[in-house]
Amino acid sequence: MRIAVVRETREGEARVALVPELVGKLTALGHDVDIEPGAGRRALISDEEYLEAGAGVDPDALAHADLVVSVQPPNPEQVRRLREGALTVSFLPTTQEPGLVADLRDVGATAFAMELVPRISRAQSMDALSSQALVAGYRCAVVAAGMLRRFFPLNMTAAGTVPPAEVVVLGAGVAGLQAIATARRLGAVVKAYDVRPAAAEEIRSMGAQAIDLDLPALEGAGGYAREMTEDRAALQMQLLAPYVAAADALITTAAVPGRAAPLLVSAAMVEAMRPGSVVVDLAAESGGNVEGAVAGEVVRIGNAQVWGGRNVAAQMPGPASRLYAQNVVALVTLMSVDGTLAPDLDDEILAGCCVTRGGRILHEPTRLLVEGA
Ligand code: NAD
Repeated sequence: MRIAVVRETREGEARVALVPELVGKLTALGHDVDIEPGAGRRALISDEEYLEAGAGVDPDALAHADLVVSVQPPNPEQVRRLREGALTVSFLPTTQEPGLVADLRDVGATAFAMELVPRISRAQSMDALSSQALVAGYRCAVVAAGMLRRFFPLNMTAAGTVPPAEVVVLGAGVAGLQAIATARRLGAVVKAYDVRPAAAEEIRSMGAQAIDLDLPALEGAGGYAREMTEDRAALQMQLLAPYVAAADALITTAAVPGRAAPLLVSAAMVEAMRPGSVVVDLAAESGGNVEGAVAGEVVRIGNAQVWGGRNVAAQMPGPASRLYAQNVVALVTLMSVDGTLAPDLDDEILAGCCVTRGGRILHEPTRLLVEGA
């Protein structure tokens, strides 16, 4: 079957869905791989590298393909050019883009959403949310270190001792833990907080101090956090305020699946930080953990520079593409049978992430959103 790797069309998207070193995995399954010219250019991968790896270069790869792989979902124009019955694999934020889901349904595409891959151990190799969160978490720590005009590590020199920077990380999921690990490797003293009790042990295992606010846990289904009540949010803010005020750098990564990111830090809390402080809000794009943070911009709040994250994983397009491509190849492998693409929708993983097929919306929450009850 023909697999197309398309050029990403969304602004700021520098990742690519397949890297040359993984082309062989798909051809070994009996597929042909074609890339659109320049598909990897923004991730610094040339067409020649894909050619050497056994892929073809075809300006019309999308229209010829049985399966189209991308990072961002295909745009409406690309959806119209899909071959009848084509499959697509990409991120597909169904709640934000219900119109696009309807388009995919109407052209009869079988569309898979990487963010809907169930988080079960068998699907770990396909977990693109985790792989991209890892990149984003690392990037957040490095951005904080770069913006802070002081050392992260302790320095003991003949000219005196320079104390280490104090970093506070809020939200210790995949991205937060990676931010903690990175800040620790750079030598900062790190304190971190998460509403899930299991996170405390993980925070400590990274060499950081787990902040205990003595509040009830908010563990929801599937190991995810639950939304806070207003009272709890206010109390959490109040209890976190002294930690935020004492931090040189604050990194926030908190999220609740299917909801806007929780507001954890008020503008007043940022205003209480010392001159030269730095705030990095990974959640700025999805509502923001920090009041006043703007996605894709650095704003000044009180004495602090506040960096709002925007498509942060794409800021390291090489490694982010490599990891994403591994996830995509694992998913495509699961749906490949004797050189054909035959997704078995009785498989929990494929059923979980298949949004449209045969002119219908299969993902029930999305169907309700698009078509109503
Ligand atoms: P996420 O991106 O949804 O959220 C990031 C973090 O924010 C979470 O740790 C969450 O608890 C935290 N958070 C939410 N509200 C908060 C608040 N008010 N204050 C402070 N922190 C808050 O989460 P994620 O990184 O995708 O993963 C979360 C969990 O899922 C982790 O336990 C992780 O180990 C688990 N996980 C499991 C698998 C798997 O089984 N395959 C894969 C990935 C992650």
